[in-house]
Amino acid sequence: MMAKLKNGRAKLFVISAPSGTGKTTLCNKLLRDGLGLVNSVSMTTRKPRPGEKEGVDYYFVTRKRFEDMISKKGFLEYEENFGNLYGTPRDFVEKNLKKGRNVLLSIDVKGAMKVRRAYPARSVLIFILPPSARVLKTRLHLRRSDSPEEVARRLALAKKELSYKDKYDYRIVNNRLDASYRRLRKIVEKELEDCER
Ligand code: ADP
Ligand code: 5GP
Repeated sequence: MMAKLKNGRAKLFVISAPSGTGKTTLCNKLLRDGLGLVNSVSMTTRKPRPGEKEGVDYYFVTRKRFEDMISKKGFLEYEENFGNLYGTPRDFVEKNLKKGRNVLLSIDVKGAMKVRRAYPARSVLIFILPPSARVLKTRLHLRRSDSPEEVARRLALAKKELSYKDKYDYRIVNNRLDASYRRLRKIVEKELEDCER
């Protein structure tokens, strides 16, 4: 499968979902599946969760370092979520697109809208939905990484985020993981074929 596009029309796959829906699980499968997508690692002021690795899951930085990056216009976009800052380093995305590589961004709804504005012709927006609010709550608890207060905040935000779903090019309800993943893969393959033409 294409890792690189001859015509330089590489795409930006932007995936959003309310926290706990399964976005990380689906994106990790996609990145390991030989489609040649490169992952944009975001920078955040949030503390690492158990098992999260520096430079793999995020670049974990202080607020001061994040603010320095903002002042140097180092982010393609950034947002504040749950009291923490999250941003997409601009250099990585620009360099990879220039080389013809397709990039995967796993970011929130507001960030996704900004990326679409910056790259209207290249961005493909995919929204992952939880099967229901009840299931989302269960998955957030299953992850066992956030306090009950954090879980409650994430559930409240989920409602707002769901109101963006119709602004996306594709929507996938993450009910059964294997079926959701098959659909995600099909979407990416179709988009990569379209830009080869
Ligand atoms: P997100 O990145 O959207 O916050 P995660 O990928 O961390 O979500 O998933 C949250 C929890 O739900 C994890 O424990 C994960 O294993 C589980 N999960 C993900 N997708 C499914 C699914 N389709 N069915 C059941 N559990 C799932
Ligand atoms: P979490 O703390 O669960 O890893 O992430 C919280 C939210 O921040 C998720 O919706 C996630 O997609 C989003 N996020 C992660 N990185 C970025 C980023 O670089 N930019 C924006 N706008 N959101 C991000």
